[in-house]
Amino acid sequence: MPETHSEKLIHTELLIIGGGPTGATAAIHAARRGLSTLIVDAQQFPRDKTCGDGLTPRAITQLDRIGLAATITDRYLSHGLKLHGFGGSVTAPWPDSAFGTVGSAMPRVELDALILDQARRQPEVSLIDGVAAIAVEFDGAKVSVVTLANGVRIKPTYLLVADGVRSTFGKLLGRTWHKGEVYGIAARSYCNTPRSTEPWIHSHLELTDDTGTIQPGYGWIFPLGDGRANVGCGALSTDRRPAKINTKKLLHFYAQQCRDEWDFGQPDNVASALLPMGGAVSNVAGANWMLIGDAAACVNPLNGEGIDYGMETAELAVSLLDEGKDFSLLWPFVLREHYGQAFLLARTAARLLTYPQLLQKLGPIGLNKPLGPVLMPAAARLMGNLVTEEDSDLVARAWAMAGTVVGRFRGSSPLWS
Ligand SMILES: Cc1cc2nc3c(=O)[nH]c(=O)nc-3n(C[C@H](O)[C@H](O)[C@H](O)COP(=O)(O)OP(=O)(O)OC[C@H]3O[C@@H](n4cnc5c(N)ncnc54)[C@H](O)[C@@H]3O)c2cc1C
Repeated sequence: MPETHSEKLIHTELLIIGGGPTGATAAIHAARRGLSTLIVDAQQFPRDKTCGDGLTPRAITQLDRIGLAATITDRYLSHGLKLHGFGGSVTAPWPDSAFGTVGSAMPRVELDALILDQARRQPEVSLIDGVAAIAVEFDGAKVSVVTLANGVRIKPTYLLVADGVRSTFGKLLGRTWHKGEVYGIAARSYCNTPRSTEPWIHSHLELTDDTGTIQPGYGWIFPLGDGRANVGCGALSTDRRPAKINTKKLLHFYAQQCRDEWDFGQPDNVASALLPMGGAVSNVAGANWMLIGDAAACVNPLNGEGIDYGMETAELAVSLLDEGKDFSLLWPFVLREHYGQAFLLARTAARLLTYPQLLQKLGPIGLNKPLGPVLMPAAARLMGNLVTEEDSDLVARAWAMAGTVVGRFRGSSPLWS
């Protein structure tokens, strides 16, 4: 008979639900502040996570802050993005910004274990894995006890919920996803290729299915430096304009189209997922708890990256853990201050891209001479949100101005409301 722990009550200053990049990073920062920290994850590590495995300079910056950037970039390093489609190709090196000019990629089964191991090396951090958090009790407005599937009860001072895109525990706390906002549907696979050390990631903006019909999606090839590339495809969707594509089927066709150029083997380990983006969730905080990372929909609507935002929100949330603070209004405010304008603008641009006619009109201009080589590096910089407040060049100023205008028109849109 399995052992039950119904009598056990564990006290901890910080409980983190979810040990992915977001939760594990939060634990590292909390340990630096001397907080006794317990991570609970439903799965045992190493575990896989459906992802493109791409790491932009923004993510590398965060990995550097927890001492892991060199381990990752020593193995594989990317200089930027090559965009293809509509009869053209444009190379967009990572811009020379505060985030640096180095990107990478690493299979999540390895990356997540690496970050979690780094967390576990801190004496303040302990881990319970292979057990889900399934219930919550309140004492007034505060979460008082969290119960695990094995009966263990945990009494935390603070709670960070980093339980990923579905956020099953977040739902117990009232987290609601606004499907009227743009969201992603995507599939990834692993393909063997002799070009796995090529230092550029690739994206195809013009995808066709097996009948030659253009599909409302994009494809990616992210070399991994280990004899493989992460090959995937995705599309943007809203509940009004759902992308009517079978991502797994499209992925197989895409890999086949690129097979000769990359000498691909058969796509392996194909998996697909939905992706709430750009802060399109509400109820992300309470008196002593905050949702971070994917649980708070901190994913860039224009490129689907969320590892960097997960790690950033982890550090931000930990920096607020002080006695006497109530996070109910503070956390949504902090999220809006940091990401509100960029995410709202990106969500608006992504929404426009759900009209397939638009990409077909703009694609040939953006990916061909004479305008492509000028426009696309700037577009790639904006897509990657590699613009900092300190940047004052023309592109950064135009983006900030667009943000103000869009903010005026879509001010009531649900961003962590
Ligand atoms: C197809 C696809 C491609 C993507 N490509 C990229 C990319 O190239 N680059 C990029 O930066 N981002 C990408 N993303 C987004 C990225 O995968 C996420 O932003 C990232 O995984 C967020 O990390 P997280 O730690 O918040 O969540 P997760 O990595 O999902 O971790 C959540 C953890 O919580 C645990 N958990 C869940 N529920 C419970 C519970 N009740 N109790 C205990 N534990 C629980 C899970 O087991 C899991 O380990 C992609 C996403 C998809 C779907």
